[in-house]
Amino acid sequence: MGPAGRRFPAQIMRRLSASYGRAVVGSRIYRVVDADSLATQWQPDLQFLALIRASSQLALVEHYRSAGLSNVDWVDAPGLEYGDIVAADPARSEVAVLHRGSDLHHSLQLTNRCNSNCLMCSQPPTLQDDAWMVEETLDVIRHLPSAPQVLGLSGGEPLLLGEHLRMVLDFVGERLPDTRVELLTNGRLLASAELSRKLLEGLATSVTWLVPLYGHVDFLHDFVVQAPGAFEETLSGLLNLQLHRQPIQLRIVLIQPVLEMLPALCTFIGRNLPFVKEVALMACEPVGFALANRELCEVDLLDWRDQLQLAARILARHGVPFLFMNAPLCALPEDLRAHAHRSISDWKNVYAPACVDCEVKSDCSGLFAWHDRGWKPSKVIQIMKKEKSA
Ligand code: SF4
Repeated sequence: MGPAGRRFPAQIMRRLSASYGRAVVGSRIYRVVDADSLATQWQPDLQFLALIRASSQLALVEHYRSAGLSNVDWVDAPGLEYGDIVAADPARSEVAVLHRGSDLHHSLQLTNRCNSNCLMCSQPPTLQDDAWMVEETLDVIRHLPSAPQVLGLSGGEPLLLGEHLRMVLDFVGERLPDTRVELLTNGRLLASAELSRKLLEGLATSVTWLVPLYGHVDFLHDFVVQAPGAFEETLSGLLNLQLHRQPIQLRIVLIQPVLEMLPALCTFIGRNLPFVKEVALMACEPVGFALANRELCEVDLLDWRDQLQLAARILARHGVPFLFMNAPLCALPEDLRAHAHRSISDWKNVYAPACVDCEVKSDCSGLFAWHDRGWKPSKVIQIMKKEKSA
């Protein structure tokens, strides 16, 4: 699909106000550069936007263009950084930042379509053909000035790309051989032995498969993902991943129906899926379908302290490593805080006024930027170091 078919998906990127040179094309992918260092970065098959900080830089860009470098133009956008990979949107006088080298986390979205309808989905799926998102992802990867250590690939459901997903993974492996991919998928379509073989046989790219599991029985998992048969399919998919020796991180989003049965789910994992690399216990993102299903999704994690501690003991007993994601340290019982990771994407991440003097802020996930429209995963309470180590 050509650029005219492209749409910017909601809430998956930073958008900034921008003004552009006259030849900048909407939706095209560009690498943002310093005009003064353009000569060292220029390649004929990439597109460049020089970030203008002084009139002399504007003159330099005009000089390059008049010399025949038609893949160079300029942008002026407060908040933009050198090395950003952006999609231009001159019609709206905006720029969308798709990749920023200085971020802690890097993620690209392959599709907005999905075959599940999770109660707490942060980004409700759409039905439209969005094949342009794959083209855009490849274009972003092509424009990266340096390889990230880890690159997240997500959807929607990336397995809906079918065999094309293998092309994307191979492309990442060729262009970024030192990068590890973290692929977020519900795993259902990997129940097909044929698709599993096509995607996984001989796969040279380093991939960790991030697969959600919400229950130890079919009715619970299928209810949470709103898809009959999903539990059986996901389990078959996990077994096929194991068959091909692929590392798996199981993901459990901590909403009420899941928390109620969390110890049983952790026992199920320990007994039946002991090969997984780790289990990620994740606070719910207060956006998307989670707001529509607030009565099931809005929880104060500290109210579930006993369940969390029991689940942690069960996983530890089975030798399954676990971590907490998206959960501020003050939302977790003290003995579990050491398992918390800073996991909220940089551009989604904020801290509350109470965080200013908190002594563990540098280790803390903080809050999702849209918690004001939703909820906090617990009361935000400053932690003093003495308390942290108590
Ligand atoms: S007060 Fe803020 S920085 Fe401290 S643990 Fe809570 S959310 Fe994190």
